[in-house]
Parts: sequence; C-alpha cells; structure tokens
Amino acid sequence: MTMPPCIFCDIIRGQSSASVVYADEQALAFMDIQPVIPGHLLVIPRAHAAYLAELDADTGAHLFRVGMTLAAAMRRSALRCEGINFFLADGEAAGQDVFHVHLHVLPRFPGDGFGLRFPPGYWDRPSRDTLDAQAAQIREAL
Ligand code: AMP
Ligand code: ZN
Repeated sequence: MTMPPCIFCDIIRGQSSASVVYADEQALAFMDIQPVIPGHLLVIPRAHAAYLAELDADTGAHLFRVGMTLAAAMRRSALRCEGINFFLADGEAAGQDVFHVHLHVLPRFPGDGFGLRFPPGYWDRPSRDTLDAQAAQIREAL
C-alpha cells in the first residue's frame, strides 16, 4: 500500500527543513512554520499516524510528556510566555490540516490576539440530566 505524501514524514526523514527544538527515538518537536504566537511549536511522533485512532497509546502519552517538558522550557525561555495552550486537531472537522498527528504547544500572554470562539447557546448551561445522558453515551462506547 502506498502512503500519501506527508510533509511531517519528510521532516522526520530530513527531506524537508525544520527548526528542531527536541528529538528522541519516538518524537520530534519543531517550530510551526506559520506561528500563531512566537514560540508556537509542534510535537509529532516519528512513526506516521494520520489520526489519534492510528497512534498507539504509549506514543500518545510520550507526545504529551514531551509537550509538558517543552511547555516548561518555554516558560523559562526568553520568549514571552505567561501561559500555555496545548491544541490537537484530530480530523478535518476539528481543524486538522496536516494528517500526521501533532500536538501544538502555544505560548500565551494577555493581549496576544489568539482566542477560541464559543458557539451560540454556550452561555445557557445544559441540565444535569443532559450531561448525565451524554456521559452515559460516551461510557457505553468505551
Ligand atoms: P493543524 O491545522 O492542526 O493540522 O496544524 C497544522 C500546522 O502545521 C499548522 O500550524 C501549520 O502552520 C503547520 N505546518 C505545516 N507545514 C509545516 C512545516 N513544513 N513546518 C512546520 N510547520 C508546518
Ligand atoms: Zn507522516
């Protein structure tokens, strides 16, 4: 089976350039080419996985661990960083553009201009019954 071309696999293979921050046997972290905020970086698995469902759990845990280490380094660095967001888009509907799993590590500070937009109706909290029913639906799928 031939795999579709993957820009992040090209980076792993050294066939495309990247500003590497961290590398180990399982993961690579490099600066995002179009940063939302200066310091924005991506942590990726070395083994290609398009979606979370294709990623083994240990590698997923490792990506989070590397993200935590880099978040701590970001806070200590000379870059402006007063908070951190982790962001991971899994699937096109979630905003995924590059189909090789990647964890965004975003430094944040007041007035940085980045934000999340809430959908209409967000401020009307659902009832406990609704939350319980949704929890049950997810539990049943475990
Ligand atoms: P997402 O929309 O969550 O799939 O994020 C894809 C991210 O990859 C975007 O923030 C892009 O700017 C970033 N990106 C795409 N190509 C490259 C590249 N060659 N090097 C570094 N970052 C990249
Ligand atoms: Zn890939």
